[in-house]
Amino acid sequence: MSATIDINNVTKAYGSLTVLDEISLGIEAGEFIVFLGPSGCGKSTLLRMIAGLESVDKGTISIGGDRIDTLPPGKRGVAMVFQTYALYPHMTVAQNMAFGLENIKIDKAEIRKRVEAAAETLEMSHLLDRKPAKLSGGQRQRVAIGRAIVKEPKAFLFDEPLSNLDAALRSRTRLELAQLHQRLGSTMIFVTHDQVEAMTLAHRIVVMHDRKIEQIGTPMEIYQRPATRFVAEFVGSPAMSMLPIKALEAKAGKTGLDVAGAGMIETTIKLPADFKLDGAAIGLRSEDTFVVNPGEDGLGLTVSVVERLGERTLLYGKLDNGLDLIVEDSGRSTVRAGDRVLVGFDEKALHVFDGNDKAYHWQEEA
Ligand code: ADP
Ligand code: MG
Repeated sequence: MSATIDINNVTKAYGSLTVLDEISLGIEAGEFIVFLGPSGCGKSTLLRMIAGLESVDKGTISIGGDRIDTLPPGKRGVAMVFQTYALYPHMTVAQNMAFGLENIKIDKAEIRKRVEAAAETLEMSHLLDRKPAKLSGGQRQRVAIGRAIVKEPKAFLFDEPLSNLDAALRSRTRLELAQLHQRLGSTMIFVTHDQVEAMTLAHRIVVMHDRKIEQIGTPMEIYQRPATRFVAEFVGSPAMSMLPIKALEAKAGKTGLDVAGAGMIETTIKLPADFKLDGAAIGLRSEDTFVVNPGEDGLGLTVSVVERLGERTLLYGKLDNGLDLIVEDSGRSTVRAGDRVLVGFDEKALHVFDGNDKAYHWQEEA
């Protein structure tokens, strides 16, 4: 089962603190949506409003076309999975999964059928008679997900469900969640501050910041064409390097950018006539930079830290005027801390940000 979710001009305040300001978002049936943003930006609050655990101050929420924000949580057809998954220690896995259904008086045979099917989906049929104390952290989290599955909800709501797992288990459970979504085809909303979870799981990512939605897009749209400087700096690791623009010079079909530390850069990125220069910058991801041979054209970089990641090497350094830049070199890089290297970059991969933090990108000629 899956359903559309429509969030329409939703506002939420705690006392005088507005935490969500006129949020609107349409989610398709069967879509995997991730709310991504820094801690405190209102992700959980928005999710809890959909679940009915928080009231909506202004605006409406609909599921499958029916308005639900006035209904009690149990009548909304959603199931939520939390970061901390409180299982009942004296109950078996099967009883933990069945508990919510017994409460709403579904008959015993039907409950059993659903619990067994959910256990099979989660590959934990052999664990149904175990108590939580005899389960690993990952298995407990699967029980919590099973408890949601048996409700046969129109939508699943996950609030940072992987945060309490160690790194290896986190990436495995992430993969299992992607597979679960493929099997169930349900609408899912997943909240996280972890950009890797967002990039790997989402059909579309909703980047949230400062009470607002900053951008909605597929993972690659968010990564390659961030709408704002905030999105550009929040997504991607290492973070995008930023170099201030001191002056603009319009040329035939091109713009010359006088970039502090990088001299004149010519770009075909289309910038508006009223481009706000004060606070403007270019952004460069490390993977779009490279070390060039001595004597070739490049920016001088004095390397202070060399970070070897195996398949690639990151060079952290300062340009001649003292600005920071992170450059990618091959896994077999021979550069050492203290070296001065010359750096080139792919002009098409440049991002330009105006003084209002709006982003401009290179565009393929139509
Ligand atoms: P996130 O999940 O993105 O980390 P939250 O939705 O939990 O953020 O919180 C958003 C903002 O609302 C934060 O500033 C938080 O302190 C505040 N907040 C959340 N719940 C409450 C509450 N019950 N009472 C007062 N302030 C709250
Ligand atoms: Mg939260």
